[in-house]
Amino acid sequence: MKTSEYEHTPIHIPAPLRSYTGGLATVDVNGLSVAEALSDLVHQFPALEPHLFDEEGTLRAFVNIYCNDEDIRYLQSIATKLGKDDELTIVPSIAGGCPDSTTFRSKNHPGNARITSTESAELSREELRRYQRHLIMPEVGVQGQKKLKAASVLLIGAGGLGSPLALYLAAAGVGRIGIVDFDVVEESNLHRQLLHGIKDIGRSKVESARDRIRDINEFVTIDLHETRLSSENALDIISEYDLVADGTDNFPTRYLVNDACVLTGTPNVYASIFRFDGQVSVFGMQDGPCYRCLYPEPPPAGLVPSCAEGGVLGILPGLVGTLQATEVVKLILGIGDSLAGKLLLIDSLSMSFKKLTLRKDNNCPVCGDQPTVTSLVDYEEFCAIPANGAALQTDSLVPEMTVSELNVRRNLHDAPFVLDVRKPFEAEIADLGADQLIPVEELSELLTEIHALRDTEIVVHCKTGVRSAKAVNILLENGFARAVNLKGGIRAWSEEIDETVMKY
Ligand SMILES: [Zn+2]
Repeated sequence: MKTSEYEHTPIHIPAPLRSYTGGLATVDVNGLSVAEALSDLVHQFPALEPHLFDEEGTLRAFVNIYCNDEDIRYLQSIATKLGKDDELTIVPSIAGGCPDSTTFRSKNHPGNARITSTESAELSREELRRYQRHLIMPEVGVQGQKKLKAASVLLIGAGGLGSPLALYLAAAGVGRIGIVDFDVVEESNLHRQLLHGIKDIGRSKVESARDRIRDINEFVTIDLHETRLSSENALDIISEYDLVADGTDNFPTRYLVNDACVLTGTPNVYASIFRFDGQVSVFGMQDGPCYRCLYPEPPPAGLVPSCAEGGVLGILPGLVGTLQATEVVKLILGIGDSLAGKLLLIDSLSMSFKKLTLRKDNNCPVCGDQPTVTSLVDYEEFCAIPANGAALQTDSLVPEMTVSELNVRRNLHDAPFVLDVRKPFEAEIADLGADQLIPVEELSELLTEIHALRDTEIVVHCKTGVRSAKAVNILLENGFARAVNLKGGIRAWSEEIDETVMKY
């Protein structure tokens, strides 16, 4: 127990929430319990409150609070008393992976293409030569190398996390690697997706990945699943593999992968990244927790920024995906302690690695004692439902205008007022000729500046339409009745109207 209520407890703030703490990664708070500490935190930084608590003041389900390395749900929840050297850590669910487009492409690629087939786990002379440095380690040896050859791993995504996974697992001699992706290589992928090169821009990611893997290790069998993983195909695809490595960049796929892994009994080596932060764990092991034990519900749409909105340090997926690959290899070899039951938090700015304890939740809807999720559901719908009731407005419900509509109106010299709510540096990268720029974070304070526009038709845009939807909500609430959101943002403008506007 603390001797004085003036003692401070540090709360570690994750990157996605630091914009609400003035950029601070750690905040010192007063309080004898977690509840008091959190209340002091939101007192110091009121903008944090809606991200941590719902309207009834209940801690949101996609925000976990750890006291040292223990989830407070398994202590006394927010009544947990704080001692002298205790530290709190906020662990929100983060989406990344890292997409270059937040919109899904249509399924215009047919299904799977099995490339080759290797049934035997015997090692040839060439393989024995290749894996020498493995074979001389007793923890691997010939038996371990055979296990690697006999193993099959499915990579969800051939992007930032999928790159080191594919490169290292292929090099290590994993016998069969499946890759699910439906995207094509874009120039902006190259700062982190080292599977792909300049020559691959415009090619399908799975084909580019296959060629690169073949160049590393001709003994690997590669299955290409050029499709979007869905409730219809996930069980069939996943059940073909011993292990899944999830490099997903969005919540619907993350929950889909989790549930399909639990339902098929497939271990799921999970990672996610955002800006400078990463998380790694192993879900779906027998008696181990799953992603839903950690985060029963996804965050409301738009509340948690994606990498496409918030960015990601190019090296980070390399670091985090390599940790993921290490966990995969350890599981195949059966060596070491896996991250099952642990959540590894990586902060690359302070270069700190923190391991928290995860517990299997007996009430988990998918892996608990009485599961309510016994088959795959509609994950787009599941993730579109705001957590804890409609605590936040669903941004997708704001009135919208398409880029082609805006373009036509401009050509007819009937252009509405265009408000850009991105950050100024983004407007320097790409601009569609907005009349004014006010970053969404400053909009509420600067409404007086645009007071004269209250009866004007305003089209609000950002990069992809997420932040601008928030801005439209703010405008509508403040009497700007004719505010609409530009659907798809400047990215859609670049894709559909003017390709000289740079995509970033
Ligand atoms: Zn679970």
